Amino acid sequence: MIVIVGLIVAFILIVIFSNRGTRQCRWREDRSGDCDGMKKFRCAACGAQAFTKTGRPPTICQRDM
Ligand SMILES: [Zn+2]
Repeated sequence: MIVIVGLIVAFILIVIFSNRGTRQCRWREDRSGDCDGMKKFRCAACGAQAFTKTGRPPTICQRDM
């Protein structure tokens, strides 16, 4: 019984940590930083900066990278 509970808790923790990266990120376009066709985005939540070629915000938070 204890083993089953432990597995459930571990699974929940994995789900939480795997989703934590993107949950808090709110990417904002920063046109002053555009260059070479790359769009600059700045995360309003953690302050991370990223460049993308697609014109869309990054899908991950780069705070811990
Ligand atoms: Zn962020």
